[in-house]
Amino acid sequence: MIPLAVPNLSGNEGRYLQEAVDSTFVSTVGPFVTRLEEMVAASAGAVGAVATSAGTAALHAALLAVGVRPGDLVVMPSFTFIASANAIAHCGATPWLVDADPFCWTMDPHQLETLFEQEAEIIGNAVYRRACGRRVAALLPVFTLGMAPDMEAIAAIAARYGLPIVADAAAAIGVRSGGEPVSACADLVCFSFNGNKTVTAGGGGAVAGRDADLLKRVRHLTTQARVSADYLHDMVGYNYRMTNIEAAVGVAQMEQLDTFLAAKRRIRRVYDTAFRGMPGVELFPEITEDENVCWFSGVVLDADLHPPVKTVCELLKEAGIEGRTFWRPIHTQPPFATAPHGPMDVVNALWGRVLTLPCSTSLTEAEQFDVIEALSGILRRTV
Ligand SMILES: *Cc1c(COP(=O)(O)O)cnc(C)c1O
Repeated sequence: MIPLAVPNLSGNEGRYLQEAVDSTFVSTVGPFVTRLEEMVAASAGAVGAVATSAGTAALHAALLAVGVRPGDLVVMPSFTFIASANAIAHCGATPWLVDADPFCWTMDPHQLETLFEQEAEIIGNAVYRRACGRRVAALLPVFTLGMAPDMEAIAAIAARYGLPIVADAAAAIGVRSGGEPVSACADLVCFSFNGNKTVTAGGGGAVAGRDADLLKRVRHLTTQARVSADYLHDMVGYNYRMTNIEAAVGVAQMEQLDTFLAAKRRIRRVYDTAFRGMPGVELFPEITEDENVCWFSGVVLDADLHPPVKTVCELLKEAGIEGRTFWRPIHTQPPFATAPHGPMDVVNALWGRVLTLPCSTSLTEAEQFDVIEALSGILRRTV
């Protein structure tokens, strides 16, 4: 079976794990945690980073740190993994969902602008959604599939309304935005080291940023809001720290970041070349290389010409290949059915047609050839 995406542990992972065990530093303090934080900060062009127990925890702590409170709204795209919305709910806040840009599937600044102009109002130094009177506390753009949204346009809107930006770049480590390191485009940027991401630590996440005080607040929140070693805590905090065991794997993975990103982009280019022009098949969005880390690859199938993606996946499975459907938008998820949202034309027409294909960084040329042959055969047969 050629799997969809499996970790590539061909570097120093085993050695560093053994080092962590030998040192007895297996828990939430240790040199690998510090090294991973430095590596994440360097890759994001940030002044620092805080390693966390998950990407979701990173998002939650970041949203709290920028001031999201119970009852608030946070504007985010509907086309994302549910963790982005869950992190908002963990703050006691509610997502205000927007559609996707048809070209890059990420937050559409034009739609965002229209939404604010038509449905929000500034009172004092805060902005409110008129229909419900709730305060809008932050913007949460998502680096969908590892692609940077138009952060310059989003930042301009955020500045106009005095809103902080927490970027969900969970699957986009190594990405740049507008020619700059990613931390330049948001107040805080969150990453995930879950097993299906390009760089994994088994699990875990990180928050990077350009403001040392804000990062200090994030670290405080993730360490039980501990003030001093004699058990004084000044607020309700969280145990969101990453362990040294996880960080040992994460450091070994970060050492291979450039190799991994090159592999992901190579895989994307090969699929694009193979499927470009095939009837009823669209490619994944193509944006400038440094703004797209090509986390997942695949194709978009025309619903009239081809069988449902699920059926195609079953046919691929018979050929020993794992293909999958992709994110179901947040506005269709039961826990967020009542979250306010604008029109969803792009997302509604898109999500059910996305087919993700094997894209592990260890995928061989021969394996990818087999995937292309199998899928081409299925699509020709079913047209
Ligand atoms: C993976 C992912 C997350 C969640 O990260 P975890 O480490 O699994 O908690 C959040 N948002 C997006 C866009 C993701 O892809």
